[in-house]
Amino acid sequence: MTPEQPAPANAYSVERQLGDADGLLVALDFDGTLAPIEDDPDAPEITEANRLAVQRLADHPDTLVAVVSGRQLADLRPRIGIDGSRYVGNHGLEYTVDGEREVHPEAEARMDDLRAAREEIEARLADMAGVHVEDKAVTLTVHYRRAKDATAEDVTAVVEDVVDPIEGLQTGSGKMIVEVKPTIEWHKGAIVEQLREEVPDSWQTVYVGDDTTDEDAFEVLGEGDFGVLVGERETAADYHVPSQCDVSRLLNWLVGGLDGEIPGEKRTE
Ligand SMILES: [Mg+2]
Repeated sequence: MTPEQPAPANAYSVERQLGDADGLLVALDFDGTLAPIEDDPDAPEITEANRLAVQRLADHPDTLVAVVSGRQLADLRPRIGIDGSRYVGNHGLEYTVDGEREVHPEAEARMDDLRAAREEIEARLADMAGVHVEDKAVTLTVHYRRAKDATAEDVTAVVEDVVDPIEGLQTGSGKMIVEVKPTIEWHKGAIVEQLREEVPDSWQTVYVGDDTTDEDAFEVLGEGDFGVLVGERETAADYHVPSQCDVSRLLNWLVGGLDGEIPGEKRTE
């Protein structure tokens, strides 16, 4: 731990300030946050420490917990499997309400165009070894982490060439991926704002994430909220932890803060 890494100090200041919270909306990214990033996109699982911490948070009466991911809902939910948590897939285009899946109507309307785009992208990427198109029901993700020769630029150029002429669809980028998604002003920040409508105004929001798509969520946070970046880079988040391994400690601090376990910062009822 080097002095210029502000993580412990930052995490501690989050903990102190959360001592005053009436309740918390806790929104958590999955890949790179609750689960370590792996080469095989099918491999990531929530760590046991994070599973216990998320369960503690979800069981607490003064929380609303949501896992907010770019993965599709059908893929995300079984990787966590905590009943008390909400699940939000495809960056908010599909989500659970009372345990049932709901889809943004605009996304539903783009399904045929998306299918056509997938067929053309797959045909044109067929000779790029290690590049894989994942069908996520309402979006596509083109993975190039395991590409043999193709560069990010090669893959992005093909996807944009196919998608740009299609009205109603757009491309986006993330860690070693290119996405194809409906042209809707909808992202992780929009879903966080939607979730906030369900909790009392006096509650604070905590958002923890590592990816560029998490910036949309950090940007909607206000005074008294806590955006926590996992890792190191330029960010709209006010706080960070150095790595994915530090997330469970942060989550357990959040529970401790709600229960007034913070020395000198007891929560007032
Ligand atoms: Mg992530």
